[in-house]
Amino acid sequence: MSKMRFFALQELTNRTALEITPPSNKLSDYYGSHVFDQKKMQEYLPKEALKAINDAIERGLPISREMADLIANGMKSWAKSLNVTHYTHWFQPLTDGTAEKHDGFIEFSDTNEVIERFSGKLLIQQEPDASSFPNGGIRNTFEARGYTAWDVSSPAFVVDTTLCIPTIFISYTGDALDYKTPLLKALAAVDKAATDVCQLFDKNITRVYSNLGWEQEYFLVDLDLYNARPDLCLSGRTLMGHSSAKDQQLEDHYFGSIPPRVTAFMKELEIECHKLGIPAKTRHNEVAPNQFELAPIFENTNLANDHNQLVMDLMKRIARKHHFAVLFHEKPFSGVNGSGKHNNWSLCTSTGVNLFAPGKNPKSNMLFLTFLVNVLMMVYKNQNLLRASIASAGNSHRLGANEAPPSILSIFLGSHLSYMLDEIAKQVGNTKMTPEEKTTLKLGIGRIPEILLDNTDRNRTSPFAFTGNRFEFRAAGSSSNCAAAMIVINAAMANQLNEFKASVDKLMEEGVGKDEAIFRILKETIIASEPIRFEGDGYSEEWKEEAARRGLSNISHVPEALMHYTDAQSRAVLIGEHIFNESELVSRLEVEFEKYTKKVQIESRVLGDLAINHIVPIAVSYQNRLLENLRGLKEIFPAEEYETLSADRKDLVREISRRVTAIKTLVHDMTEARKVANQLEHHQEKAYAYEEQVRPYLDMIRDHIDHLEMEVDDEIWPLPKYRELLFNK
Ligand code: ADP
Ligand code: MG
Repeated sequence: MSKMRFFALQELTNRTALEITPPSNKLSDYYGSHVFDQKKMQEYLPKEALKAINDAIERGLPISREMADLIANGMKSWAKSLNVTHYTHWFQPLTDGTAEKHDGFIEFSDTNEVIERFSGKLLIQQEPDASSFPNGGIRNTFEARGYTAWDVSSPAFVVDTTLCIPTIFISYTGDALDYKTPLLKALAAVDKAATDVCQLFDKNITRVYSNLGWEQEYFLVDLDLYNARPDLCLSGRTLMGHSSAKDQQLEDHYFGSIPPRVTAFMKELEIECHKLGIPAKTRHNEVAPNQFELAPIFENTNLANDHNQLVMDLMKRIARKHHFAVLFHEKPFSGVNGSGKHNNWSLCTSTGVNLFAPGKNPKSNMLFLTFLVNVLMMVYKNQNLLRASIASAGNSHRLGANEAPPSILSIFLGSHLSYMLDEIAKQVGNTKMTPEEKTTLKLGIGRIPEILLDNTDRNRTSPFAFTGNRFEFRAAGSSSNCAAAMIVINAAMANQLNEFKASVDKLMEEGVGKDEAIFRILKETIIASEPIRFEGDGYSEEWKEEAARRGLSNISHVPEALMHYTDAQSRAVLIGEHIFNESELVSRLEVEFEKYTKKVQIESRVLGDLAINHIVPIAVSYQNRLLENLRGLKEIFPAEEYETLSADRKDLVREISRRVTAIKTLVHDMTEARKVANQLEHHQEKAYAYEEQVRPYLDMIRDHIDHLEMEVDDEIWPLPKYRELLFNK
């Protein structure tokens, strides 16, 4: 056994849970204490500055330099009350995670004395070097400089001794280099389009907000065991490891109690979340051993996404304190469930109406129905773009694997609602409706809320499920930035609603009454989007066949899925709705290809090294022990008896030889395939080569190693095994 494995296992027995006590017994005493929210703004800002910032938040008005200085000064005073010494522009580059560069409040005054200052200029804009972040060639065209600019809609917060200011990140030319910029544009687009549609029903509706409630799944692994697994440290997942004799087959983890050390971690995490105004609510075990979930109460999408990024950061840090490593990889262990990040999404009006929840009367239900039907069409038309938005090296192990949503997009509505739509499609003709038809329809629509109340069926296998008052996009990966999916969903919804509105307007111009026009288009849309509705088992083989018959896409090839970012429909949505310009879209695709290539490249290198440096030598030394044993047997026993006694060991020696040779050959061939791929010039070609020529070796090599793990003496096996990684306390 390697020293690290031995040490890690020995240390494990000493681990105890930390004692965690909240700052106060009353959550409301410290909730949001580290956020510069309305309450703190009222306390620390002069009236005119408060008005300026609220006008900026609510109406998008610019903030003057003078006001910015006042706001910065107030922010600094508040931050200093929490012993803050530094500030940072906090942003979300196209890597995994967030970026920050800390600066002290220190400055020289006019008389050359050191003073503490934080000016409006520094609050509003800064210039980090863009060249160290992925940019898909945008910066090469011009300048290495990038700008971060304050996002007033997400409040500043304090972590440790640093004041963090949420910002967007753009290039010198103004092109987006981050997730937040296009997200804000998509949210503005859906706001505009949805408000226009709402106005057909209710003139009081002046804005529509997008909401997001994410559910973050993750694994915890003891830190020492994690450190003894170079594959986990470097690639985020185990590249080898025979499955444990016991894993999730008893389903005892899901319902089991949470281990004390994990509870302590969760408690501290929740306290830190609450201080930061993140409404963490649910915590529980997940299906796989050592797998857990955290979910907050939903918030507006921009803030919710910032909070998710922040939480992922917090988790990494707090986990270390509790001697855990947190794994966000979508599939850290083969053979047990992977981790996703469900995106619960809804649209809500300025009048407080959730557009995905049926109302109390036929009129409000028409609004509900309109939005519901447009979601169906949005997903149907944009399956490939949605698929692209969740494509990544990590998530490819989940999508299509048996426990996760398939790589086919479909929507689950529940049998009652589905039936309702079919009825509507039957009732409304292209000619004028008879009064009886109208009454039946109104009655039907009026019944929706009751239907939904009884309609408790939940389908956990659907990638895009209607869950009563929201849609749950389940295919997103646990390590992803929610913005990737949220940009696409909201932009595509804006695009769909605009088309819907244009069709209704056209009929009205032709003299068709408003209600009738809406019904007709809804009917058409229900019929046209029918193939996307599926109520059955999304994980089944039959569904794959059925989906193919319906002409739905099923793309498991990652670069191929990514290619759809730039197909005609995606361009209509992303460029047509002004979320990206042409060069931003192309560069984003390039970044995705590059990320994919690098991830597979790292996995391939790590596996190659481990196979040759860790596994092969151990296998050979065990083989030598067997050979010694055979020589001893031969010396002592008469030839005939020796033959019977040694047969199994000889087989084992042969088997180990065969596997060692196979591993060496495969690693060699994989390295050659990498060399060829690395020579390719275009990001796209390279990504395809890594997917098709390099990646298949990972599983082939792993298979031999996992067999060796069962054959070689446990005492000398160098790496912590699955049973150790998954079942530690
Ligand atoms: P489940 O595991 O059954 O899907 P959870 O309670 O774990 O449910 O998570 C549900 C998530 O959906 C939470 O984040 C919750 O805040 C969110 N949610 C509830 N209602 C809405 C809504 N109208 N819009 C967006 N998200 C919502
Ligand atoms: Mg859920």
